[in-house]
Amino acid sequence: MKFFFDYERPELAESFHPSFRATQIYKSVYQRWFDDFELMSDLPKALRTELAAEWDIKLPPVHRRFDSIDGTKRYLVRLADGELAETVFLPEEHRNTVCISSQIGCALACTFCLTGQLGLTRNLTAGEILTQALIAQRENIAWEARDSFNIVLMGMGEPLHNYDNVMKAIRILHDEQGMNMSMSRITLSTAGLLPAIERLGTEPMIPNLAISLTGATNEKRNQLMPINRRYPIEQLLEAVRRFPLKHRQRVTFEYVLLKGLTDSPEDALHLVKLLKGMRAKVNLIPFNEAEEVPYKRPSEAVIERFQQILEDHHINAFVRKNRGNDISAACGQLKKKWADETEIASFKER
Ligand code: SAH
Repeated sequence: MKFFFDYERPELAESFHPSFRATQIYKSVYQRWFDDFELMSDLPKALRTELAAEWDIKLPPVHRRFDSIDGTKRYLVRLADGELAETVFLPEEHRNTVCISSQIGCALACTFCLTGQLGLTRNLTAGEILTQALIAQRENIAWEARDSFNIVLMGMGEPLHNYDNVMKAIRILHDEQGMNMSMSRITLSTAGLLPAIERLGTEPMIPNLAISLTGATNEKRNQLMPINRRYPIEQLLEAVRRFPLKHRQRVTFEYVLLKGLTDSPEDALHLVKLLKGMRAKVNLIPFNEAEEVPYKRPSEAVIERFQQILEDHHINAFVRKNRGNDISAACGQLKKKWADETEIASFKER
């Protein structure tokens, strides 16, 4: 069986005859949410049977769902080979965000990130990436409001390490005959794979770019994010400065606040210096603590002081709310798939 969601419309047009069938089926799957060819009454009966034998158009099943008291939901999506992809749905007043994974595990080994401890198991396919968003959308958003959500590639994995599949997933989500998602609603977050950032800048369709910085000097960043030894800060920021931006678009810098390590006024001033003159905004992420890593979250006063220094220097800085912490859905906590049995006891479970 071929997984329908792994294919772009031009590819499908080569498989289906006559080729307009590709668009017809694409619309049924992505716009009408049909998951069975029998529902497609605009197709001849014999063709429906034929297609059903060849194409899988069902979304992957949810192995487990965890509900946080703050409304956040974490999904473990079961993939064909039994691996579990982690997806987080974050409801907000004016928009919803779906955080999706691009890999099982991650190869980058950032010292403060739990996914980083896993190593890389495998890349996700385009269909495995984008169906995570469809699952969260269809489970949580009313039909009338179905387009009111953003996608962030900030789950497990380094999206730019799985470049081709991630870009393919983005193109499929963007296809006007399908989900028709605007690029402005998709954000790709990277730890700083410099050549891939440059390649991304040459794509016909470019999502929003977020860079995980977290150290504002090479010394600190080398310690926390090994990728920095290959692509040091100055080179990374040079590439970001060259990155093409649309009118009023800005690059987001994510900066994890680690107590005593990245949270001092001096660190903030280093950051100010780095970002000077850039069309940038900063997302400060107070560290989400976990037993497995020794770091601590700074106090509220220290977080505020850091933010204030950035604002004083005319850099927009937002403090990211800590959401879904009670279900291990907060930033950097995605890894606990095997701990479910014990972990689950105290959580509301479907
Ligand atoms: N590999 C990509 C996307 C996944 S990580 C990247 O690095 O951008 C998404 C964000 O979570 C990154 O900015 C990362 O620095 C942050 N993060 C990782 N572990 C964290 C933790 N324990 N607490 C807070 N943020 C964390």
